[in-house]
Amino acid sequence: MSTIEKTEKFVMKTYNRYPVSFVKGKGCRLYDENGKEYLDMLAGIAVCNLGHCHEKVSKAICEQAQTLIHTSNLFHIKPQAELAELLCKNSFGEKVFFCNSGAEANEGAIKLARRYGTEKDPEKFEIIAFRQSFHGRTMAAVSITGQGKYNEGFGPMLQGVHFAEFNNINSVKELISEKTAGIIVEPIQGEGGIVPAEKEFLQELRNLADEIDAILIFDEVQTGVGRTGKLFAYQHYGVEPDVMTLAKALGNGVPIGAIVAKGKAADVLKPGLHASTFGGNFLATRAGVEVIKEISKPEFLKSVEEKGTYLKEKLQSLIEQFPEKFVSVRGKGLMIGLICKEPCSKIVEKALENGLVINCTAGNVLRFTPPLIISKEEIDAGIEILKKTLKEL
Ligand SMILES: *Cc1c(COP(=O)(O)O)cnc(C)c1O
Repeated sequence: MSTIEKTEKFVMKTYNRYPVSFVKGKGCRLYDENGKEYLDMLAGIAVCNLGHCHEKVSKAICEQAQTLIHTSNLFHIKPQAELAELLCKNSFGEKVFFCNSGAEANEGAIKLARRYGTEKDPEKFEIIAFRQSFHGRTMAAVSITGQGKYNEGFGPMLQGVHFAEFNNINSVKELISEKTAGIIVEPIQGEGGIVPAEKEFLQELRNLADEIDAILIFDEVQTGVGRTGKLFAYQHYGVEPDVMTLAKALGNGVPIGAIVAKGKAADVLKPGLHASTFGGNFLATRAGVEVIKEISKPEFLKSVEEKGTYLKEKLQSLIEQFPEKFVSVRGKGLMIGLICKEPCSKIVEKALENGLVINCTAGNVLRFTPPLIISKEEIDAGIEILKKTLKEL
C-alpha cells in the first residue's frame, strides 16, 4: 500500500489532504516520493520559519536526542530554563509556561485569565474574543474561536464568551464589563484571512483591559517568532499584552507551545494549578533555543521585513496583470495574503501540480508564509510558477 492508501485506510479523515507525500526537505525546497521538487511558500503553515532541516536546529535536536529527551517537570530542565530566559529577554515577558501546541497555550491563557478574574470576584470569568478569529481546536480554544464551522455540533461551549468585531472598538465597549476576565486577540488574524489589527484598536484594547483589570492576551501562535519581520507582532504596534501565546514556529517543526506573561499575569498560575507532561521537555526546548537565537538577530529580522516588502510588490504587480482574479494584498513581513475575487482552492491545487506550495484560507485568500530564509531569487521563482498557473486556469 502507498502512503496515500494507508492514510485513507488507517488515519481518521479529519483533513482533506492533497495527493502528495513529501519525503525530504532542505531550506525552502520539498521533495515528494517521485523525486519531484517543490518550492515551499507555506512552511508547514508558518511553522518551519528557518526552513526545512535547518543545520543548527537539526544538529541540536540530534545531539539532544542522544543525550536526554524527557524527565518530566518534577525536575529542572536546562534548555527549558534557557528558552524561558531568551523569550523574556527578547519580549515584554517575565515568566513562561511551556506546553505542546497553540491550542494548549490558549487553553492555558484562558485558565490564567479566569483564575486571575475569579480570585477578585467569582463572577469575573467572561472572555471577549473576536469574530473570524482562530485559536485552535480544543474545547476552550473552539469556544473562543469566532467562526461557526469550528464549534458547531460539539455541544455547549465555554460559558461567558462574547464575540466582538475585529478592528471595531465600539463593539468591544458594548460587551466589556467588570465581569470580563480576559480579552484575546490575534495581532494579525491568520486563519481569518491575514487581517492585520489597526494600531489604535490594539491600543484601545489595552486601555479597556486596564480600566476593568482584565488580562489582555495576544495570540501570537502564527504571528510570533519572526513571521512579521519583528520577533513578535506586538512590537509593530507599541502595545504590550499581559499574556502572549506562542507555538507554530517556536520549534521549527518540533511540537512546542508557550505562554509568556508579565506583571499581574506572571504569577497567577501557582504550583499545582496548571501542568503539561511533555511541556518544555529537553527535545522541544532545545529546538526552541536554536530557533530564537537565530531569528532574534536584528539582521535576520531586517531581512524578513525586506523580503516581505519584495514579495508584496511582486504580488501587487500580479494583481495588475490579473485584475479579473485579484483584489488586493495585505499582511506584514512574510505573512501575506493575496485576496482573490473568487474561492482560490483551485489555484492552490494547480500551483501544487506546478511545484509551488501555498494555501488558501478564509475561502478566498491565498496565504504566503514561506520559510523566513527564502531568497529573492526563490520569491521570483515562486511568482513565475504562480503566473504560469494562473495562465493555465
Ligand atoms: C495555528 C493556530 C492556533 C492553533 O495551534 P495548534 O498548534 O494547531 O493547536 C492557534 N492560534 C492561532 C492564531 C493559530 O494560527
